[in-house]
Amino acid sequence: MARRKLVYEGKAKILYEGPEPGTMVQYFKDDATAFNAGKRDVIEGKGVLNNRLSEFFMNGLAGIGVPTHFIRRINMREQLIRAVEIIPLKVVVRNVAAGLMSKRLGIKEGTSLPRPIIEFYYKDDNLGDPLVTEEHVIAFGWASQQDLDDMVALGMRVNDFLSGLMLGVGIKLVDFKIEIGRIWDGDFMRLIVADEISPDSCRLWDIESGQKLDKDVFRCDLGSLSDAYTEVARRLGVMPSNTGHVTKPTLIN
Ligand code: UDP
Repeated sequence: MARRKLVYEGKAKILYEGPEPGTMVQYFKDDATAFNAGKRDVIEGKGVLNNRLSEFFMNGLAGIGVPTHFIRRINMREQLIRAVEIIPLKVVVRNVAAGLMSKRLGIKEGTSLPRPIIEFYYKDDNLGDPLVTEEHVIAFGWASQQDLDDMVALGMRVNDFLSGLMLGVGIKLVDFKIEIGRIWDGDFMRLIVADEISPDSCRLWDIESGQKLDKDVFRCDLGSLSDAYTEVARRLGVMPSNTGHVTKPTLIN
């Protein structure tokens, strides 16, 4: 079998060259990291769950006209995506105060925000992804004013879609992070949702109990991460219950 060319390996995913120009294969690993990789572990089955969940969210977004990089799922851990030029910003949308915002501004975790708030973080592991303003983004040429306006619009549409979807299955979408990529159709450039959307990049709280169903389970040692992600997938009807856990084959005597 021909070896695929590795393009980029990140903390949770690997990108390979795709079968056609303009495509890539995105492979979801089981590795979990937090605190800029200060904490790490391997969570069996996480990559399978995130591959399916990201497919589900990206397909749903495409269904309401939000452009994404997703083309199709290839297998349990891989999906075919459009090759994009990633804008070096993490776009965070918040509905409820939590995480860094609570720490930075002293707002109690769980406080509903008066309206969704969008923040930009400059993607740089060495700097710990600092929060930046639109002034920085434009002055340093990471994106234009038009790009920023488009990113805010995309962030808001993704927020409306995901919030509604989650609310329908008894989950509060506290916040999430997306990454945005540029693609060209001839001379025409547009921005699309890229990377992944999964419980690795969202805060999801059960509405009734407040139970965390996202990566905070790993960050804060709150129990089984794969159980939490399986629960999200189950509620959304994404995975048949018997494929939630990837079990090793057992020897039959
Ligand atoms: N997030 C992410 N990747 C990052 C940083 C944040 O997916 O590198 C997500 C995180 O899971 C949460 C939201 O973005 O859903 C906001 O995270 P926050 O800024 O509060 O930082 P954190 O407390 O997660 O470090």
